[in-house]
Parts: sequence; structure tokens; C-alpha cells
Amino acid sequence: MDWSAIVTAVSLIVAIAAACGAALAWAAHVWPRDDGPLVDAIDRLLPQIQCAQCGYPGCRPYAMAIADGAPIDRCPPGGEPVVRALATLLGRSEQRVDPQLAKFSDRVARVDETRCIGCALCLPACPVDAIVGAPQLLHTVLIEECTGCELCMPPCPVDCIVMVAR
Ligand code: SF4
Ligand code: SF4
Ligand code: SF4
Repeated sequence: MDWSAIVTAVSLIVAIAAACGAALAWAAHVWPRDDGPLVDAIDRLLPQIQCAQCGYPGCRPYAMAIADGAPIDRCPPGGEPVVRALATLLGRSEQRVDPQLAKFSDRVARVDETRCIGCALCLPACPVDAIVGAPQLLHTVLIEECTGCELCMPPCPVDCIVMVAR
């Protein structure tokens, strides 16, 4: 029996297993797991607007990231109430509210109707359908629906959408 060949083969297998383990550990760190109840509970507290302003491609990915330790104050549409609810759920009572969130939740969009040309380009940009109007007609914002996210501003070709105090 060629013992050196056997030792070499066993060493190779051990090395491959160690490499696979390290790769799996790295993948688990880089890609947070969608691990059921906790992610579900966090996701239920998020607004489900799917606007990606948190830096993640939607509410569920952000919920997964929070479960993995990401900051809980990255959702402008949710604002301070969502931060507070997440802090309570996760026991992160020390979490400070991002001043940027307060800025968003205090403001709403308003259409300057003297300049609106009725192009309707702002309609699909609003994740909560807070803008009403039809092509060639003036558009207006439903204040009670508006989250102040500003997503409607860039598409407007005449810059007639402004943010005002709620
Ligand atoms: S910013 Fe808030 S509402 Fe928008 S996708 Fe992220 S978690 Fe969802
Ligand atoms: S700021 Fe604009 S896009 Fe955002 S919710 Fe208000 S109307 Fe909709
Ligand atoms: S994008 Fe601007 S100009 Fe066009 S309908 Fe909306 S508010 Fe009016």
C-alpha cells in the first residue's frame, strides 16, 4: 500500500473541505439569510413601498439586512415611526433617528400648478400613487398620501414640483 499517496489524498480532501467551509462562511456574511420569523416581523413593519431609498432593492432585502445587523434608520417613507417600531422589536432602544428621516417625514411635495404642463411623467415615479391627474391636465399631490420621498422631482421636465412643510 502506498501510504504517502493515501496521506496526500487525505490532506487534499481536508484542504478542499476547509476551503469550502471558508467560502460558505464568507457567503453567509456577504449575503444575509432570509431566516423566517425575524425577517417576517421586520418586513411587516416596513412600508412595502419598494422604493429602494434605503439602499436595498426593496423592503424584504432591507428587512434581511436589518436582521443581519444593518442600521434601522434608512427608510425615508417610514420615517421616525418605523424607526421606533423597529427599535422596540429588536431591542435597539439606543438607536438615534437619522435627522434626514425627520426632514423627509416633515415635508410633502406640491405641484406649482401655474407651471405644470400636464405631461404625467411624475405619475409612475410616485411609489404611493400620491399624485393625481391625467395627461394634458394639471397634476396635484394628495398630501395625506405623500411620504416626502422626492422621487417625483427628477422626472418633471419643468421643475414645477417643490417640497414644502407638511
Ligand atoms: S426605503 Fe423603506 S419603503 Fe422604500 S424599499 Fe426601503 S424599506 Fe421599503
Ligand atoms: S414626494 Fe412625490 S413621489 Fe414621493 S410620495 Fe410625495 S408625491 Fe409621491
Ligand atoms: S412631471 Fe411636472 S409638468 Fe409633468 S405632470 Fe408632473 S408636475 Fe406637471
